[in-house]
Amino acid sequence: MKRTFFLITVILLVTGCHQSDPKNPYNLPIAATMEEYLVQVKENPETELTDLEEIIPGISLDIAYATSDNFTGVPIYTSPKAFLCRPVAEALALAQDSLKKTGLGFKILDAYRPYAATLYFYEVYHDTTFVASPRTGSIHNRGAAVDLTLICLETGNELEMPTPFDSFSDTASHAFNDIPEHILKNRATLRGIMEAFGFSIYEPEWWHYNYTNARSYPLRDISFEELMNH
Ligand SMILES: [Zn+2]
Repeated sequence: MKRTFFLITVILLVTGCHQSDPKNPYNLPIAATMEEYLVQVKENPETELTDLEEIIPGISLDIAYATSDNFTGVPIYTSPKAFLCRPVAEALALAQDSLKKTGLGFKILDAYRPYAATLYFYEVYHDTTFVASPRTGSIHNRGAAVDLTLICLETGNELEMPTPFDSFSDTASHAFNDIPEHILKNRATLRGIMEAFGFSIYEPEWWHYNYTNARSYPLRDISFEELMNH
């Protein structure tokens, strides 16, 4: 009897090792339930995913992934929301305050992104220059990266940038300079304010910024609904 139990246990363990979780096929340390997330936040309050509209009242959002107008052609999020880990959101608030003096503001294009979206993006588009590898996850999954552009506060109009958001082209790179002077200046203004407040560029995409020590924030696969209803 004992021997049978032992054999069954071994078989279960062995087969268990070979079955990968389709939601986490590379076995990354991802918090996928609200319970896990809340434990992390209790241990380190800086990892709380905060609602950017609460930290920066009136912030302009244009969340393409909440519409079908994105490179996948289908809505990825059910709500046009932007969440970031608290220190990241607070740094962005200080940056926006400073930017206001020049009559400019941010328009947020994407922030925290659940890991499930990263898995799906990679299925749709395999080039890991523009889409994070699901083997490592995206800094967006950590709530420590933000995609954004600049607007004129008075008109709400976007400043002209080298390409539209998510244009997967060389022209989107900070290394691409064969563009009109005023557009280069807009790109440099965004970069200057972001770098002054602890963010760094991702060279292939003018719109993407990572916060200081971005990889120290945990990977999450918590939906917007769970965050909103919590
Ligand atoms: Zn990004």
